[in-house]
Amino acid sequence: VIEELRGIVGAAHVLTGADAVARYVRDWTGRFTGATPAVVRPADTAEVAAVLALCARDGTPVVPQGGNTGLVGGSVPLHGEVVLSLERLRAVGPVDPAAAQLTAGAGATLADVQAAAAGAGLLYPVDLSARGSATVGGMVATNAGGLHVVRYGDTRGRLAGYEAVLADGTVLRHLAGLEKDNTGYDLGALLCGSEGTLGVVTAARLRLVARPRHRVTALLAFSSVAAAAGAVAELRQVESLTAAELMVREGVALVRDRFGVAPPFAELHPAYLLVEAAAGHDPVDELAAAADRAEPDDVAVADSPDARAALWEVRERHTEAVNLLGPPVKLDVTLPHARLAAFLEAVGTTVEASCPGARTWLFGHAADGNVHVNVTGCAPAGDDAVTAAVLELVAEQGGSISAEHGIGTVKRAYLHLVRTPAEIATFRRLKSALDPQAILNPHVLLP
Ligand SMILES: Cc1cc2nc3c(=O)[nH]c(=O)nc-3n(C[C@H](O)[C@H](O)[C@H](O)COP(=O)(O)OP(=O)(O)OC[C@H]3O[C@@H](n4cnc5c(N)ncnc54)[C@H](O)[C@@H]3O)c2cc1C
Repeated sequence: VIEELRGIVGAAHVLTGADAVARYVRDWTGRFTGATPAVVRPADTAEVAAVLALCARDGTPVVPQGGNTGLVGGSVPLHGEVVLSLERLRAVGPVDPAAAQLTAGAGATLADVQAAAAGAGLLYPVDLSARGSATVGGMVATNAGGLHVVRYGDTRGRLAGYEAVLADGTVLRHLAGLEKDNTGYDLGALLCGSEGTLGVVTAARLRLVARPRHRVTALLAFSSVAAAAGAVAELRQVESLTAAELMVREGVALVRDRFGVAPPFAELHPAYLLVEAAAGHDPVDELAAAADRAEPDDVAVADSPDARAALWEVRERHTEAVNLLGPPVKLDVTLPHARLAAFLEAVGTTVEASCPGARTWLFGHAADGNVHVNVTGCAPAGDDAVTAAVLELVAEQGGSISAEHGIGTVKRAYLHLVRTPAEIATFRRLKSALDPQAILNPHVLLP
């Protein structure tokens, strides 16, 4: 098979040595390391199709991979699969200004797409800190959310068309991007969140938005996590709200100690919301009024790009800072807003009970009820106990066990907490219809 793969993509693009494949077999967190006979790097859709047809003929399992920034152990070959890297499909097409759309290859990074949109005076509004590496294909496959979902929705909402290759090499293409197009099943939407189990995304037609001329960013400090969570209701009144990000004292102190960046206040506060509003008019008064009603203990307003970047850096470096403590258990959950404060207060105790001595780090996209629960200091043996305890707490509260990172390998044993047997059976029917030999990411998503 490896010889035939070389014949399809060229010998230089079938990597086999341990050193050559190292960065493709280890995940971003360092928690998951697998092994692969080969990493295949096709140049275009036709080569992707030929690679998959060959793997289907041979029954060779494949893990599709983009930027390998996924956080749920879904992008690395944990069972000896071939890695199908889309990183060479990096072309970003011209912006269609009338449609406010562009087509990007699966391997284009989020930063590539954002730059192309900006070049045409527009904005691609899905944003996340892994923007320099996360790819279009990976973002579709995980239905990435990020920092601005409250205003602009997730990747599924941005997808106006798609191109993908099924497990047997069949190419599906629907890239016209017509805004009105009720012609049957929305296969692009089905690929969103499919985590490489139903097809390999090779290109996406993405919706852009007008670039807001005014933007204001502020950091609100609160006397408790519950007060910060409660403030979200006031902030949601701001029509131009684009972000409301939660941080708590421990995480902010960690970022300060690791990277020397900190909020511009004399002392640390128990909780913070980093809020941003953007509009065609200056949204500062509207945001200030909502912030007043939320009754923070302190407020810092960023009035220059540098000041704004400094506030965002405190939030964006949380993931990296926690990772430096050693591979964390990373749980990304959504709570109904009414339960958010109670969950934030209870989850540390839940973690401690299932893994004594572990530390819990909380941050996330508060406007979406989305909390990243990171746990460090738990021996690998305790990971499953922590995962089970936290996810069961989330399910009891009516939340989701995955807000935006996906199910991957980490959470597939818990899918039943939030999906009914009938739904999981339907997932399986879809999987076997599109990938009857189960060669596409066979150990991901489905229990
Ligand atoms: C610092 C940091 C911050 C992050 N912040 C956020 C955030 O705010 N919001 C958020 O949603 N995520 C976030 N993530 C997670 C991650 O960036 C996203 O899940 C992203 O969409 C993954 O893209 P990728 O190209 O790296 O995919 P990969 O990690 O390579 O793959 C992820 C999954 O998609 C599948 N896949 C990849 N490419 C394809 C393809 N072309 N076709 C089919 N399947 C494919 C893989 O098999 C795997 O199951 C963050 C990650 C990091 C490291």
